[in-house]
This record gives sequence, structure tokens and C-alpha cells, in this order.
Amino acid sequence: MQTVMQSEVVIVGAGLSGLAMAVTLDSAGIASTVIDRQHLPADISDISDGRTTAISYTSRRMLETLGLWPAEHAAPILDIRVTDGPSRLFLHFDHRDAGDQPMGHLIENRFLRARFQQAAKQSRNITILTGHGVSDLQRDETGVHYTLSDGSGGQARMVIGADGAKSWLRQSAGIRTSGWSYGQTAMICTIRHQLPHHNVAHERFLPGGPFAVLPLAGEYASIVWSERDALVPVMMRLDDQAFAGELLRRFDDSLGTIELAGPRSSYPLSLTVAHDIAGTRLALVGDAAHQMHPIAGQAFNLGLRDIAALAEIIVDRRRLGLDIGGDEGLSRYRRSRRVDIATLLAATDGLTWLFSNDIPPVRIARDLGLGLVNKMPRLKTMFMRSAMGTAGNGPRLLRGQHL
Ligand SMILES: Cc1cc2nc3c(=O)[nH]c(=O)nc-3n(C[C@H](O)[C@H](O)[C@H](O)COP(=O)(O)OP(=O)(O)OC[C@H]3O[C@@H](n4cnc5c(N)ncnc54)[C@H](O)[C@@H]3O)c2cc1C
Repeated sequence: MQTVMQSEVVIVGAGLSGLAMAVTLDSAGIASTVIDRQHLPADISDISDGRTTAISYTSRRMLETLGLWPAEHAAPILDIRVTDGPSRLFLHFDHRDAGDQPMGHLIENRFLRARFQQAAKQSRNITILTGHGVSDLQRDETGVHYTLSDGSGGQARMVIGADGAKSWLRQSAGIRTSGWSYGQTAMICTIRHQLPHHNVAHERFLPGGPFAVLPLAGEYASIVWSERDALVPVMMRLDDQAFAGELLRRFDDSLGTIELAGPRSSYPLSLTVAHDIAGTRLALVGDAAHQMHPIAGQAFNLGLRDIAALAEIIVDRRRLGLDIGGDEGLSRYRRSRRVDIATLLAATDGLTWLFSNDIPPVRIARDLGLGLVNKMPRLKTMFMRSAMGTAGNGPRLLRGQHL
């Protein structure tokens, strides 16, 4: 094997998680090599695929601290209005009940990726190798030794798996997963609408799955429409005008007339959770560790919390002169993430089950629940603080402090 790379950390996957991990480590002077089997597009901000991400308040603080916050492309979410199908009961979250900050921001993925890619490419500490996957990886007490599919290779003190829900690294390490498909697929697109959205996000629970209308900058909104798998090919084959008609049938006329403003795409939805997020000289972050339904828009936020926790452990160990890939640090990472990951997965899965069916007793109970919660300001504020990530202490980056 021809060794081409020596770095402290090797990261498999240059998606949002892998790039964010590399830039986070770089902020404390830690060098990494990021490997992706796909090439990174040159100017990604020009290519819209309709995908958006809701970024919570604490995730924003972390991205701002790292210089990764694309402020000019971030649309604040001030209120959230939740309705249950045709029921007139609704739940209204007003950001002013939890303070003076927006509840989150919505950003097109292409702008997040562009910012992350630019920061990674400009750093002298980050080497990006694309176009070849890892074909072999050995981990032992001396470090990590890897070979790419073109025959080149390298060494590092530890490997971080950020290679998505079907993680090769996770499988090759023999880490098992649990999970299931929701029988739903999310259809994604951007719409242009006639009337202002006033930065209100709408989530309507329909029997086929949640239907979300999320405010973007200007008179644009992002649609995340989860629907039963069987209906999705039929909807995706409709022309733009007929598809917009289907959107209107599921929403109301509060935004006036609408039209599609970009391509549509679809993503089958499932839950996958790794039984372990650490192993010998190995840690998993992002979708490689946990993939979930987008009902609450929290998956990438959870991935950022993995990254903040892992980076803090690596940096602290390095400052103390300890092996950054040693077992103690990785055990600490495993322990520090257990409750957060388990709680969010359980809450997301429970919400999806509760709101994606039309069994009358369940529907009546949840409508009563919605109406009750709406009348309990303290409980609503608690839910909001939890979704914003402001409840409790977390790693330094999530509190807006540098590593
Ligand atoms: C419809 C939808 C809406 C969503 N909305 C939100 C939201 O509002 N808020 C939120 O927080 N989250 C949201 N999410 C979740 C969020 O998009 C994901 O959590 C996030 O994109 C995961 O990023 P990742 O980098 O971990 O994984 P991925 O994006 O899957 O990236 C993995 C990378 O690894 C590379 N790779 C894979 N295998 C290999 C290999 N063997 N060798 C080398 N490279 C490899 C791939 O090429 C890819 O670049 C949503 C998801 C969906 C589907």
C-alpha cells in the first residue's frame, strides 16, 4: 500500500456531518482527512434540490461559533402552528413565550453545504479525498490504517464514521442496528406563494403522514410532505400544476395561490439506530449513528450535538497529552450521547405513530391532548425550550463557547 496521508483523525463521509466534524476539529487545530466516495460539486449553492433543514437555536450558536452560519440564507421560524387533519383544534407555539429568539431557522441544504465545503477547503488542516471509498480499514493499539479503492491509503489516531444511514464503516466494524421503515416517503419541494408567511411554520398531521409548510426567505416556503409509500409514485408523476393542486388540498388558503419553484424529490423514511456509537479507535456521528423521521426536524441537530460532544472529548484529551483515540475518551463519548439519542428517537417515533393513523380513539385522544397542551403555557414553553435545545447544559460549542 502506498501511504499518502498522515493525520490525527480520518473521517469517512463528506456530507453535512463529516464536513462539520472536520471544521469543528480544525477550530482547535486538529488535522483531519475527509474521505467520500462521491466528488463534491464545485459550486453547490447554485444547485437547488429543494432540501431544507430546520436548525435549532443551540445548533445555530454552534455554527456561529465555528464561522459556519449562513446568516444571509437563514429564515427565522417565529411561530409554529400544529393542526390535526380537519380538526379545528390546534396547537400554537409563539417564540415570545420562550424568550426573544426565533424558535429556529430554516436553511436550504445547498447553502449549508456550500458554507461547510468552503470552510473545509480553505483550511490547511483538512485534506479532502473524494471519488474513492475506503476498501479496507484496520484498527489496533497503534492506530488506524486504511486503504482506498484506488490503492492509496493512510494512517490516523482514530476514525470517525459520518458516512450516513447505511454506514459502511459501521457495518465493517460489526456494529449492529435496529430500526424499521415507516411505510412513508417524504416528498420535498419549494413553493412560491402569493401572501406573506409571517415566518410561521405549519405542521398538519394527516393519516398518510405529517405535512409541513416551512417559511423560507421572501415569499417562498419549503414543503415536506410525508405520505404512504404507495401514493408517492402517483403524486410524483403529476405535472407541477396538478401537484400544486394536491398541496393546496392538504393545506389551507392562508398563503393565497401557490406554484412550484424548483424540482421535487422524495426520500423513503425509516428509523435506524446503531447499537453502539463507539469502538476501538472509532466513533460514529450523524445519520451513521441514528436516522429518524423528519416529523420534528431534529436529525441533523442531533448529529451536531454528537459532533460537539466528540470534538470536546478529543480536544480535551489532546490538551492533556492523552491518546485522542484511546478507549477512555470513546467510552466517555458513548456515555455522553446515550440519553439524548434515546430520548429524541423515542419521542420522534412516538409522535410519528401517534399522528400517522386515523384510528378514532387515538384521533380523539390526541385532539384532546393538543387542545389541553395549548391551554398550558408552562408546558408549551417547556416543549419549545426542548426543541430549541436551550434546556440544560451541553458541550461548550452548544453554549456558544469555543473548544
Ligand atoms: C425529508 C428530510 C427532511 C429533513 N429535515 C431535517 C430538518 O429539518 N432538520 C434536521 O435537523 N434534519 C433534517 N433531516 C435530516 C438530515 O438531512 C440528515 O440528518 C443529514 O443530512 C445527515 O447528514 P450526514 O452527513 O450524517 O449523512 P449523509 O448526508 O447521508 O452523508 C453521508 C456521506 O457519506 C458518503 N459515504 C457513504 N458511504 C461511503 C463510503 N463507504 N465511503 C466514503 N464515503 C461514503 C456519502 O457519499 C455522503 O456524502 C431531514 C431528512 C430528510 C430525509
